[in-house]
Amino acid sequence: MAEPFWYLGGLLVIGLALQVLLLVAGGLRRASFETARAWGERERLQLRIQAEKLRIRSVQANQTAWNGYRKFTVAKKIAEADGTFSFHLEPHDGRKLPPFQPGQYLTFQLAVPGYAKALVRCYSLSDCARDTHYRVTIKRCTPPSGTPHPPGVVSSWFTEEVKPGDILDVKAPAGHFALDLQRSRPIVLIGGGVGITPVLAMANALAVAGLTLETWFFVGMRNSRDHILKKECEELAARAPWLRLQVCYSQPLPEDLKGRDYQHEGRVTVDLLKAALPSANYDYYLCGPGAFMETITTGLTAWGVPDEWVNYEAFGPATVKKAVPAAEKIALSKVALAKTEVTFARSGTKLYWDGSHDSVLDFAEAHGVSIDAGCRAGNCGSCIVAIKSGEVEYSSGHDTEVEKGSCLTCICRPKGPLVLDA
Ligand SMILES: Cc1cc2nc3c(=O)[nH]c(=O)nc-3n(C[C@H](O)[C@H](O)[C@H](O)COP(=O)(O)OP(=O)(O)OC[C@H]3O[C@@H](n4cnc5c(N)ncnc54)[C@H](O)[C@@H]3O)c2cc1C
Repeated sequence: MAEPFWYLGGLLVIGLALQVLLLVAGGLRRASFETARAWGERERLQLRIQAEKLRIRSVQANQTAWNGYRKFTVAKKIAEADGTFSFHLEPHDGRKLPPFQPGQYLTFQLAVPGYAKALVRCYSLSDCARDTHYRVTIKRCTPPSGTPHPPGVVSSWFTEEVKPGDILDVKAPAGHFALDLQRSRPIVLIGGGVGITPVLAMANALAVAGLTLETWFFVGMRNSRDHILKKECEELAARAPWLRLQVCYSQPLPEDLKGRDYQHEGRVTVDLLKAALPSANYDYYLCGPGAFMETITTGLTAWGVPDEWVNYEAFGPATVKKAVPAAEKIALSKVALAKTEVTFARSGTKLYWDGSHDSVLDFAEAHGVSIDAGCRAGNCGSCIVAIKSGEVEYSSGHDTEVEKGSCLTCICRPKGPLVLDA
């Protein structure tokens, strides 16, 4: 008779013990979950603090930057790749340099021998902010293949003639293509060719700030001979586990080793991004040749990435032309068909705009009307001309403030009959 009681008692004890074990295990699981959550919160808080510090630094930078041009001495000239050099520029007055937002550029006014007027060009800051010097990285611009045109004037002069000790006139860092650390999304940086310069500055700034935000860094180059700042990128990726460097070579050399020098053969494409990234949920910063950015920005839109997550900068005349909505196309072609009259009053030239030029500046130059030009991207302000009558529209955003009654001819088009003081 006593045996069933023993069995029942035993089962009860085992059941109770199991329940206690389950309770303890659940408690432990909850505790470890809470700890992980607390760590996550701590990390997020640290990121926010660092981002806020960077924001304050950039506000201070804008307050302490100089007006007009300041003299800088070329302290170092470093060969980076075929026809590409970095220049370390120290302020001639020896005073500390203001910080800048990673992605911004410097504007140079240069007395190039053989040119009556000073030439104006912009070059991105390719390193993070330092008190003592700025760095720009300049690639000699070759003419489009198969054309008889000469190579780029200023980039040739920089890479061939400029040497340590030379003094240059430089405007304070400027530009809206800048890393926005107030956003909490992880980051994708994409640099094609010399377009790597501003995005490398962004990666360097993230590393210096100690931010461990998930960051993908896609680099598109022809091969190792053209691979600008290769060693610097590799060293950065080696010491920053949060940074995933993905190098694409479109024409690898026999000595270029997949897995060592590059990860993918071909160009940086949206298909590659789709294959590499766990989702489309990133802030994108891209810089490279016009066609490259056009393809990527259009592909990102098709992938469902909102426009406000995609930041880009074109070097030079390229304006990134995303697929134009049909309605806009019709509106543009109507303007073209209307054969708008454009008058360059000072030179006494009356022409008809037929929509085949990207900008009023291109249009003027094609018809022998001379207008000063610099960056050709709406940044340096060299091409500003007064409007005597009529209105213009802009093909892209611009960094230069334009007074009412004037226009940036390098990125504007007539909205109707236009008379310019040029
Ligand atoms: C915001 C910004 C940042 C930039 N950052 C960088 C940077 O970090 N690094 C960098 O290297 N560049 C950068 N650039 C580009 C740089 O400013 C210059 O545009 C570039 O160096 C070319 O200037 P250039 O005087 O050498 O060429 P230009 O003399 O202006 O010639 C431009 C191109 O036209 C070709 N050409 C010459 N004559 C003709 C003709 N008759 N018809 C057709 N084509 C012709 C030339 O061969 C050359 O390829 C940046 C530009 C901008 C706007």
